[in-house]
Amino acid sequence: MIKTQISEIKTLLSTPKNIVIVPHINPDGDAMGSTLGLYNYLKLYNHNTTVIAPNDYPDFLKWLPGDDTVLKFETQQEESTTKINKADLIFTLDFNALHRAGHLMADVLELSNTTKIMIDHHQQPDDYATYTYSDVTMSSTCEMVYNFIEMLGDDAKIDSKIATCLYVGIMTDTGSFRFPATTARTHQVIGNLIQKGANNSEIHNNIYDTNSYSRLQLLGRAMQNLKVIPELRTAYISLTQAELDQFNYKKGDTEGFVNYALSLKGIIFAAMFTENTKDNIIKISLRSKGNFSVNELSRSHFNGGGHTNAAGGRSAESMENTINKFISILQQYKNELSITQNRP
Ligand code: 5GP
Ligand code: MN
Repeated sequence: MIKTQISEIKTLLSTPKNIVIVPHINPDGDAMGSTLGLYNYLKLYNHNTTVIAPNDYPDFLKWLPGDDTVLKFETQQEESTTKINKADLIFTLDFNALHRAGHLMADVLELSNTTKIMIDHHQQPDDYATYTYSDVTMSSTCEMVYNFIEMLGDDAKIDSKIATCLYVGIMTDTGSFRFPATTARTHQVIGNLIQKGANNSEIHNNIYDTNSYSRLQLLGRAMQNLKVIPELRTAYISLTQAELDQFNYKKGDTEGFVNYALSLKGIIFAAMFTENTKDNIIKISLRSKGNFSVNELSRSHFNGGGHTNAAGGRSAESMENTINKFISILQQYKNELSITQNRP
């Protein structure tokens, strides 16, 4: 983000405004951490700020400072639409195209002519915002919100609430500081956040050690369903709606399951297929190691996108047809996936 843009934004923020902050649909730790981190920062300047999530998110994220003020567009459409229409400024965080707010909310956002600021690290950002801070090399949108506050000259203002929110997203998007986008700078930011009051041990506990018994049983089932194609260094997991129901599935319960498939020795590409009969889709989560781009594969075949090593997508076909399609698609990527190539 260039200096003139920052100074324009600084001017915008110098008097109290009506501000709306939006994360992507099915918000994750980085989406909620970045929006609530920014929310707690803007509160310091007495802006009338509201985070509006397109829909609900997992319980393990519902303790972040400011969480009790979040509106959910899906269930609070009228109130949310009024807020968006009255906004002087809309921040869109952790997504690269308006449809990622879900079609209902995207329509309302599209109709609004107000100033928009995008902060995001996903690939191929759309050009809808007045100010775009996009950097696909960043570990997380939370790290970018830290940079944004620093660019505004306000790093000294980061308090324990802001620090806690930003810590959450950096931690979840880096797989606890292990994915390749984790840099020395990421660790420096994390160090600063701890210094400013983020309780790292408590945050890890709140996010990762609040499993229900049924979630662990569902993980057991997912692991039983794990299939491996060793010659293509690929592994995949499926969970049907009946299996989710059997283990009392709640939003967020399958978060991270796909990483177990990727943890198999020698595997560089992992997928998880989760049936959702309500939306009539198979939700697809893709992860990879090294140069194999799941963003490209998802964009080309599964109506999605994301990052090189983590992407999402969907299929309108049955579970069986989706998996068969997936297996046949793998043949197109044989050169990249087969054992002689691209060893991470
Ligand atoms: P997940 O598998 O956890 O749903 O998604 C992995 C990553 O890809 C996340 O960063 C998520 O925001 C992103 N992602 C998921 N679905 C889509 C999609 O349809 N389009 C784009 N651009 N990114 C996605
Ligand atoms: Mn993110």
